[in-house]
This record gives sequence, structure tokens and C-alpha cells, in this order.
Amino acid sequence: MIRFDSVSKHYPDGTIAVDSLDLVAPSGQITVFVGPSGCGKTTSLRMINRMIEPTSGTVWLDDRDTSTIATHELRRQIGYVIQHAGLFPHRTILDNIATVPLLLGWDRRKARARSRELLERVGLPAHFAERYPAQLSGGQQQRVGVARALAADPPVMLMDEPFSAVDPIARDQLQEEFLRLQGELGKTIVFVTHDIDEAIKLGDQVAVLRVGGRLAQLAAPAQLLSEPADAFVASFVGRDRGYRALGFTPAHKLVLHDEPTIRVGSSLAGAEAADGWLLAVDEQGAPQGWLRLAGPGSGGAGAAGTVTEDLLHRGGTVAGAEASLRAALDACLSSPSGRGVVVDSDGRLAGTVTAPEVLTLIEQQRMSSDQPSARPVAGGDR
Ligand code: ADP
Ligand code: MG
Repeated sequence: MIRFDSVSKHYPDGTIAVDSLDLVAPSGQITVFVGPSGCGKTTSLRMINRMIEPTSGTVWLDDRDTSTIATHELRRQIGYVIQHAGLFPHRTILDNIATVPLLLGWDRRKARARSRELLERVGLPAHFAERYPAQLSGGQQQRVGVARALAADPPVMLMDEPFSAVDPIARDQLQEEFLRLQGELGKTIVFVTHDIDEAIKLGDQVAVLRVGGRLAQLAAPAQLLSEPADAFVASFVGRDRGYRALGFTPAHKLVLHDEPTIRVGSSLAGAEAADGWLLAVDEQGAPQGWLRLAGPGSGGAGAAGTVTEDLLHRGGTVAGAEASLRAALDACLSSPSGRGVVVDSDGRLAGTVTAPEVLTLIEQQRMSSDQPSARPVAGGDR
């Protein structure tokens, strides 16, 4: 556990970077600091490992006042990951990861073995070991940064915008893998970002800071969306928050309807659908897209020929077996037939739902005491 007890940081030029921060980052959880540029996120983070000393107040690590712990001892317990990974350019990836274990006096063989294990853990191929940082993409370098921070197995990890500089697709992957890794490791993590969506996706709890280093709200992500503490938090959390909050409610209570289907590659002869839209599936029963059957003035598929890929409307999203209400509603809204496609864990069609049915369930849950879960359900942000 990390505890900020009335912690402030004032700079000599009069800047108040952090103003009387009180906050607990519980053990084994991810606490995210989020807020606009200059609101004191980095300063707060660095006061934990004493790269910056507070002007007043105390940062506690479990039951110890960090100002009484020698910095080298403190930092041995705290991994640190920054935006551009900060790798040593002239050292191989393996040597980069082994940096801290070697500093701690581990023998070389053990340090290298540990580093190879971590390379795999963060999802990089073994042959990257002998490469140099410049030979890796930004996202891959960030993985190495994470591996390096984990090398000495510190109980605490500080991460300062570790995924901000990589492209959106790589960022999404890094976030997923980070959550998977944390599921295995259960570190006490303080994670800084300026991106509210990242905060909501990753945080067990989210601390929203405002410029001047003041804590505006500390809450679980779902609560931040549903009950922003004030106008600043509401505007920072942003638009669509009602919709985004649905990402925290599982859709498993939805009753699915059987949906008639047609195989891609099969004959169109005799195909019909009440409303003109027929769902096409592949050999395994995985939905491929919607087929518009010929109707008056529809310009759709004729009554002859076969179902080919290029006849399919592919605009609809597909909600997975573990989907959230957000994913289910999006499947409905994006489907040309108005029927949202839900698949099982193997990607096969499970059935369809309609938007009114999802809305009815939302309304039922609002009336009942069902609490949203603390973390987005799988696929909840899609
Ligand atoms: P964030 O990480 O949220 O963008 P920082 O913690 O880096 O913000 O900075 C908080 C505030 O403190 C900013 O206004 C910044 O300009 C100021 N600041 C940071 N370092 C110094 C310094 N060494 N001297 C004066 N002001 C500083
Ligand atoms: Mg910063």
C-alpha cells in the first residue's frame, strides 16, 4: 500500500505542483492518476520513489515513512516505467532487462535467465534478446521497458504515460497485455496518463487531478462515469459517458433469439427473410455479414446465383460471449437489420438481440440494485 498523507510540492518559483494530496493506492491494485497536462501527475508519482522530495507531508510505503528509507533500498522495491522506455541504446535488449538484477549483484547467468523469462512474459520473441533498442518498434520498446521494471520483481510499479507515445493499435494491445500480466502478478501499481479512456480501462481506482495539483475525485471507473464529483470531472470524463458506463455491465442476462442463416458459397435459390436481411455464416457458423435479399427496389441479391463475399454488408459489430451491454447495444445499432449479432466464445453465432431489448434490460438493471462491476467486462470498450 502507498499512502499520500497531506503531500505537497511547491517549487521555488512559486508553482504549486501538488497541493495537499491525500490518497491510498491499495496493494495489488492499479491506481491511475489522470488529469490535464501540468496537473502534477508526474510530480506525484516521483515523490513515491523520491526522485522528487515533497515540500511537506508524508508518503508511506506500507507502514514506513519513505523519507526514512534510503533511496537505493526504496527504489529496489519500486519498478519505474516511462514514456519512451528509456532503454540504453548501446546495450542489447537482454542486457537492458538485466540492468537492475546486475546492479543488485545477481550472478550473470541468473540475471540473464530471468531476463529471458521476462522477454517472453511481455510477449516478445526470444530472438529479440540480442537486438538493440533501435531495432524495435515503439510498442516493442515499451514492452522491454515493462520487462526491465519487473526484472527484480519489485512489489510496486510506477508507470508514467508508458503507452502514450505508441500508435493506437499497439497501445490497445499493450493495455490488454498489461492487464493480463497484472492479473498474474498482482503488483501495487500507480499508473499516470492524460487519457481518460486509458484510465477507465486500466484502473481499479482512478484519481482525477486538476491543475494546481488538487485531487478532484478518487473513484472506481464505473462510478467516475456515473457520478462525476463536479463540473470539472464531468467535462474531463467527457461525452458519451452514459453509453461508456454500459461497458461495465455484462450482457449475459439478455435473451437471444434464433437467427436464420445462410452459408457463404451456398445457393440463393429459395432464400428468404421476413425483413429482407439474412445473416450469412461460414462453414463453422461464424457470422460473416448481412445479405440483402431482393425486394421491391432493394437492389439486393437476386433470386439466383450463390452467396458471395462481395454481396455482404459488413457494417455490423459483433458482441462476444462475455460482452458488455455497451458491446451488445453497439451490435444492434450498427446492424443493418437492427438485430445485433452475438457470438459464443468460439466465434460461432449464438443468436441476436434488438436495441429495445437491450434498453429494457438497462432499465431493469437501473431499477434493481445491480451494481456495475469495478472493471470493464471483456470487450466492454469496443
Ligand atoms: P504532469 O505530469 O501532470 O503534466 P508535472 O507533475 O510534470 O505535471 O508538473 C506539475 C507542475 O509543476 C507544472 O505546472 C510544471 O510546469 C511544474 N513543474 C515541474 N517541475 C518543475 C520545476 N523543476 N520547477 C518549477 N515548476 C515545475
Ligand atoms: Mg507528466
